[in-house]
Amino acid sequence: MNASRLQDVLDAHLNEGLGAHTWECSCGVTDQDERDMTHGEHQAAVWRAACTIHSVALRDALSVGSVVVYEDERAVFKSLPRPGVQSPAWIQPGSRYESTADEVPLPALLLWSPDWSE
Ligand SMILES: [Zn+2]
Repeated sequence: MNASRLQDVLDAHLNEGLGAHTWECSCGVTDQDERDMTHGEHQAAVWRAACTIHSVALRDALSVGSVVVYEDERAVFKSLPRPGVQSPAWIQPGSRYESTADEVPLPALLLWSPDWSE
């Protein structure tokens, strides 16, 4: 998977307005569309949406070491492939043997991908 790159997302959402509260994003959204948001909050919302995984194909293509949150409560990371088992496990940090799952329910929020460090 080509995980979304923060710089690409931010490049598509530049503030062409006057400031944080009087803003006009290069994507066309303005402070009049999102009255409760600053431009920075708009950028954060766009980034969150870009990191939300809805498809099985994208989830399964995530790199080993990727960290996702699902059901708004559990952060898990993708393990190395396991011998004799087709899929890698999703492991909750600190609970290696208690909280493993073969699949993460969708949608899931990608918190970090090792691809981002490249
Ligand atoms: Zn925008």
